[in-house]
Amino acid sequence: MKNLYIVGALGSIGMQTLDIVRNNPNEFRVIGLSLGRNLELGKKIVEEFKPEIISFREKNDISFSYNPKIYYGDEGLLEVSKYHKYENEVFVNALVGISGLMPTVYAIKAKKEICLSNKETLVVAGDIIKSLVKEYDVKLTPIDSEHSAILQCINGEDKKEIKRLIITASGGSFRDKSRDEIKNATKEDALKHPNWKMGSKITIDSATMMNKGFEVIEAHYLFDIPYSKIDTILHRESIVHSMVEFNDGTIKAELGVSDMHTPISYALRFPSHEYQESKSLDLIGLNLHFEKLSYERFPCLHFAYLAAKLGGIYYAVLNASNEAAVYLFLNDKIKFLQIEDIIYKELTNPAYESIEYNLENVIKVSYEIMDRIKKEYE
Ligand code: MG
Repeated sequence: MKNLYIVGALGSIGMQTLDIVRNNPNEFRVIGLSLGRNLELGKKIVEEFKPEIISFREKNDISFSYNPKIYYGDEGLLEVSKYHKYENEVFVNALVGISGLMPTVYAIKAKKEICLSNKETLVVAGDIIKSLVKEYDVKLTPIDSEHSAILQCINGEDKKEIKRLIITASGGSFRDKSRDEIKNATKEDALKHPNWKMGSKITIDSATMMNKGFEVIEAHYLFDIPYSKIDTILHRESIVHSMVEFNDGTIKAELGVSDMHTPISYALRFPSHEYQESKSLDLIGLNLHFEKLSYERFPCLHFAYLAAKLGGIYYAVLNASNEAAVYLFLNDKIKFLQIEDIIYKELTNPAYESIEYNLENVIKVSYEIMDRIKKEYE
C-alpha cells in the first residue's frame, strides 16, 4: 500500500491523481491533502478519501464526520508536507508556482518519495533540490508528460550515449498567430489551449512558451544533461510527448493520447505501465508534424536558456518575474506581450549577480520581485 500526500489536490493534476486512487483502493490511500480555496469541493474530497491531515488555504468553519488534523495557510501546507507516519510515503506536488518549493523541501526531509508536477521547484532551486534528494536518499519522479516521456526513453540506457533530448511543444493557444496578432490578446483567447486542459497559469505559460523554457530547465536537472544537449521542437498534435536521440542516431519517442492520468500513474508506479483506464492511440491515418520553434516568435523560450546561462539566483529571477507578469495578465493589468518585457527587464538587471544562491535567498528574492512588480502595475 502506498501512502499518498497530495498538495494542490483540487487542481487539475491533483484531481486526476485522486481518480487513480479512487480506482485502485488496494494500492493507494490518501494520508494528507492540501485543498486550496474551494471549500465545497474540498469537503467532498475529504469525506470521500478521509485523510488524516488536511490543510486549507484560508481559515473556515467546515466540520467533518470524523476528526482529521486540520491546518490553514502556508504553515498548514508545510505541516502536511512534513507529516510522517508510515513506510512507503509518496508526496505528489501538484501546486502551481514558487509556493510549491518549500513543500518539496519538507517532504524530502520527511523521506517521502516525490512525484513532481510543480515545475517551479526545479526551475528556481534545481541544484538545491538535487543535493537534498541525494542527502536524504529519496526518489524524485516527474509527472510532466514531456519528462515522463524522456524518463521512459532513457530507462535502461547509458546516459553517456545520449546525444540530445528533444522536448516537444504543442505551441500553445497562439501557435498560429503572429506577434502582431497577439499584441491585444485577451486572457480568454490565451486560456483556450488546443490540446490539453490545464490550470490557467500553465495555460498562459504555454501560450508564451515559458512553460517549454521551464521544461528545458527541469530536464537539465532531472536527467543531468547539459543545456547544449536539450532541444525543443514544435509538434502540434501532442502525440509524441518527447524524444531522446542517442549517439548512433537512434531516436526513441513516447507516443500516446493526451491524458495526464498516464504520466501521473507512471510517476506513482515507476517504472510500471500498470495504468488500465487509458485509451489506445489510433495509429491509422495519424499525421505527425514537427516544426522549428523560433526564439524570435517565442522569446520566453530564449529567456529560459538565458537564465540558465546566468545561473544561480537568475533562475529565481526568471520564475518570479514570470509569475508576477502572468498574475497581472490574468487580472487584466497588462497586455499579453508585456509579460515578455517584464521578464526581460529583470533578467538583464545585473544587480542580482552579487546575491548568493541558496534556499533562503531564492525565496527572499522571489517574493521581493513578485511584490514589487505587482505593485508597479496595480
Ligand atoms: Mg508539459
